[in-house]
Amino acid sequence: MIEPAAGLAAPVITVDGPSGTGKGTIAGRLAQLLGWHVLDTGALYRCVGLAAVRRGLDLDDGDALGALAQALHIRFDGERVLLDDLDVSTDIRTAAAAEHASRVAAQPAVRQALWRLQREAVRPPGLIADGRDMGTVVFPEAALKLYLDASPEVRADRRYKQLKDKGMDANLHSLAQELAERDRRDRERAASPLAPADDAVIIDTSALDIDAVLACVVDAVRRRLPQALQASSGVQSGA
Ligand code: C5P
Repeated sequence: MIEPAAGLAAPVITVDGPSGTGKGTIAGRLAQLLGWHVLDTGALYRCVGLAAVRRGLDLDDGDALGALAQALHIRFDGERVLLDDLDVSTDIRTAAAAEHASRVAAQPAVRQALWRLQREAVRPPGLIADGRDMGTVVFPEAALKLYLDASPEVRADRRYKQLKDKGMDANLHSLAQELAERDRRDRERAASPLAPADDAVIIDTSALDIDAVLACVVDAVRRRLPQALQASSGVQSGA
């Protein structure tokens, strides 16, 4: 067993960065490899945004949004995301839902409500948490912090293909504009802006496919947290 940092129930690896860098895919693949749990924190903000719009709340009303974030029941069931027991897995993946998520994410009261939820998600043997402020604010004591980046053009193109693959409507030009606006808001907000932690391993994924990114990530795990790989090979071989 890997000794977790004080105050954490298990070790944590954080994966931060802007949209379209492959964070979610890498977090999932790494979790599979290590036999750890995974937490998609973007889905939490998307759920708050969706619930706020459905209730007709003002997306700039921090108090109302904070109270809402505190009251919501968000649950992951494999690939499915359940919001107050309703399956919202598809509803939270639209371009509008991404925009609403980034608006509510600028509210400190929302971030505070989700902070607790995210900390409570840590459980043995370990957690891979992907988002924007995992390494800087939510898990500053993480065992390993990764920050994935890529050029805006590459990220827009990846997002476009992702949506198309899911059979969703998408337009590359407007997607690039929406992404740029969302990035700007995420980087410039006062509360937990998107930025790499000082001790993060930064990986530029612009020219890399997902297997190449995973190879860089596994290399970082091998250097900083070799016990995680040893433990997982034990699990996989049944030792
Ligand atoms: O990662 P994803 O694209 O699902 O995130 C949607 C939005 O949620 C982001 O644009 C960002 O504004 C917000 N977010 C955040 N902090 C996180 C995860 C997501 O502010 N840890």
